Amino acid sequence: MNEFDLIKTYFDWPNPPNTVSIGVGDDAAIVQVPSGEDLLISVDTFISGVHFPSDTPADAIGYKALAVNLSDLAAMGATPRWFTLALTLPEVNPLWLQAFAQGLKTLADAHGIFLIGGDTTRGALSITIQVMGTAPKQQALLRQGAKAGDLLLASGYLGDAAAGLALVQGRLNLPAWASDYCIKRLNYPSPRTRLGTWLVDKASSCMDISDGLLGDVKHILQRSQVGARLNTQQFRWSKALALLPMEQRLAYALGGGDDYELLFTLPPILWARWQSELLAYSDVQVLGCITNQVECIEFDQMPSKSIKGYDHFDN
Ligand code: ADP
Ligand code: MG
Repeated sequence: MNEFDLIKTYFDWPNPPNTVSIGVGDDAAIVQVPSGEDLLISVDTFISGVHFPSDTPADAIGYKALAVNLSDLAAMGATPRWFTLALTLPEVNPLWLQAFAQGLKTLADAHGIFLIGGDTTRGALSITIQVMGTAPKQQALLRQGAKAGDLLLASGYLGDAAAGLALVQGRLNLPAWASDYCIKRLNYPSPRTRLGTWLVDKASSCMDISDGLLGDVKHILQRSQVGARLNTQQFRWSKALALLPMEQRLAYALGGGDDYELLFTLPPILWARWQSELLAYSDVQVLGCITNQVECIEFDQMPSKSIKGYDHFDN
């Protein structure tokens, strides 16, 4: 199979949406940004052995490479529209490609995003996906805007994916059902697209949690020039994480990565008004509140170990 057959077979999808006038097959794609909307663009690279264990199933690699990008669009309140795929492969393995493309397309279809082009090269396995989305002009959600007194919320349970990684690396043991659940949360995160678009006009700030709550919340605090108080005793946990001692749960939630939940702030009056709608989108929970102690994080209880977010250049 040559490069062109490969692209035609796996990445030239039928039935483009009407915002695409030229997709895969020409030198560049042509799309129409709906009038009254801003274009939002984000890119993430996914490298075997760095971002996922090298024995990760191919469909999970395809799924997750797109999921982490969709999560960035959700964090801005954008509607997903188009994406490009730069794929570097060590070899042409049709079984692997079939599963990879299927993982990618299943998630793309579920979120209404369409593959419009890319690049295919030979080398160590690496996947770069650039997503494009749109949001009502000047209304995209930002990391700035949180105000003292706002509540700090998350779109679901934290720490499950970090436990999943510990499980696949043999650093943790859990009963089979709990282990399956955590590994699924690691390999198939749920981008909160619908919640993100709903939060436009409502949340005072928003981002996605990819590197651990503690490291990520600092970005909101810096951009908004505020502080936060975390009520860790009130955190809600998945049934799987509830099997672990509190200290270990907190280590995964505060310092682990790969949750891909939304972290956002809301004035308490809006939480009171919209709580039931928010709970319908996902298991939204209150993590704490915003304070005026600029860039300070206070805890209801001090975590006993020092925990920090994941940083590729600071290990
Ligand atoms: P060029 O040499 O002009 O860059 P390519 O041979 O790289 O063209 O690609 C041919 C067409 O296939 C282009 O439209 C490109 O966007 C598309 N394409 C290449 N690789 C991929 C891929 N992995 N996924 C989707 N589209 C791809
Ligand atoms: Mg090319």
